[in-house]
Amino acid sequence: MTERFTGSFTQQEAIPQAGIEAAMAVLQHGRLHRYNVAEGELGETALLEQEFAALTGAKYAVAVASGGYAMGCAMRAAGVKAGDKVLSNGFTLAPVPGAIASLGAEPVFVEVTDALTIDLNHLQTQIAARQAKTLLLSHMRGHLVDMDALMEICDAAGVRVIEDCAHTMGAEWRGTPSGRHGIIGCYSCQTYKHVNSGEGGFLVSDDADLMARAIVLSGSYMLYERHKAAPAPEVFERVKYDTPNISGRMDNLRAAILRPQLAQLDAQVEKWNARYKALEDGIRNCPGLHIIERAPEGRFVGSSIQFLLPGYTPQQIESFVAGCAGRGVELKWFGAAEPKAFTSRYDSWRYAQKQSLPETDRILAGLIDMRLPLTFTLDDCSTIGRIISDEALKLSHSVAAN
Ligand SMILES: *Cc1c(COP(=O)(O)O)cnc(C)c1O
Repeated sequence: MTERFTGSFTQQEAIPQAGIEAAMAVLQHGRLHRYNVAEGELGETALLEQEFAALTGAKYAVAVASGGYAMGCAMRAAGVKAGDKVLSNGFTLAPVPGAIASLGAEPVFVEVTDALTIDLNHLQTQIAARQAKTLLLSHMRGHLVDMDALMEICDAAGVRVIEDCAHTMGAEWRGTPSGRHGIIGCYSCQTYKHVNSGEGGFLVSDDADLMARAIVLSGSYMLYERHKAAPAPEVFERVKYDTPNISGRMDNLRAAILRPQLAQLDAQVEKWNARYKALEDGIRNCPGLHIIERAPEGRFVGSSIQFLLPGYTPQQIESFVAGCAGRGVELKWFGAAEPKAFTSRYDSWRYAQKQSLPETDRILAGLIDMRLPLTFTLDDCSTIGRIISDEALKLSHSVAAN
C-alpha cells in the first residue's frame, strides 16, 4: 500500500498555558497598549524586551509590530535614505526587499551559494560595483554564512550589516547568538517563526544612539523612559527632535503570549533539531537528492528543511512536488516561474531594478523547501522522509528510463 501522511504543515503548537493565563490577565485589566501601565507597573512589553535582550546578550532591545517592520525601522535608525542602495541575498522572502523598498531605497541582490548562504565573492564584487554601504543580511531558512569572514569583508569596506534573523532566533555562530554580529539584529514573532504571537518582531543592538532612534521610530512618543532595555534618557535627548514616530509598536497582549515562549526557546530548538535530524536521516541516501549540510560552526534551528534536486526539468520537479502532495507531503519549490503563496523569487520583485543572478537561478531551479512544525512527531518525520525518498527515487527512475 502507498504510504500517506495526514498531518498539517501549518499547524503550530498551542500557546503555553502560562502564556494563556498571562494573556487573560491582560484582557481582564484591559491595559493592552504598552504605555498604558498602572502606577509602578512594568508592562508585559517592557518585561519582554528585558528578557529578549538577556537572551541575545544585547544591551538594548525593542519589541515591534512585525519582523518586516523591524527591518525597516533598523534601516531608518541606521540612516538609510531614499535612493540608497541596500545589498541583500538573492534568495530570501518578500518582506526583505519590501522593507528596503519601504524606505525608497534600492535593493541590490547578491548571489547565494549551494549552501543557500550569501556568496562572499559576489558580495565583494557588488560592494565595489554598486557603492553600497548597507547590507541587509538574510539568514534565510536559518543557513548561516561564515559570519567571521562576512564581518571582515563588511568592516573593511565600511558596510554596515543589519541582520534578518526571522529564521535564526535561538541560533548561534561560534557561540555568538545570531543577530549579534551586525549593528542591529531583527527578528520575527509571526506564527511560522520560532515564537508565535501571530505578528510581532524585535530589534537588538549595543549601539545607544541607534537604539534610541529605533525606539522613537517605533512609536514611543516621549514615553521612552518606560522602556527598560533602552539607552539612558540623555541619549534620547540627542535624537528626539529629529526622529519621526513611525508607529509600529508591540502590545501587552502579544508580549504576554511571548514571554513564556522565550523562556522555553532552547528546549524548542532541541525539539526542532531532533525532528530535522529524523527527516534528514530519512532522505540522506536518496539518489539524485542533494542534502544541504549545515555549517558545523553554527547552531541552527531546524524549523524547516531544504534540499536540492539538481539537473531536473521544471516539469519533472513539478511532478515530484505533485507526487509528494498527493501523499500528504506539502513541499514548496523555489524554481517556479510565478510567485505562489509565501514563495517568490528575486525576479518577481519587479519594483527593484532588474538584475541577473545566474548562480542563484541555477540553485533555485532545484530548490525544495519544507516546513517542520513542532506538532509533528519523530515518527511523522520518518514517514515524511520515506515518502520524499520514494518520490525522489521514482523521479530518478523516470529520468533514467527516458
Ligand atoms: C517572515 C520573514 C520576515 C518578516 O517577518 P514578518 O514578521 O512576517 O514581517 C523577514 N525575513 C524572512 C526571511 C522571513 O521569513
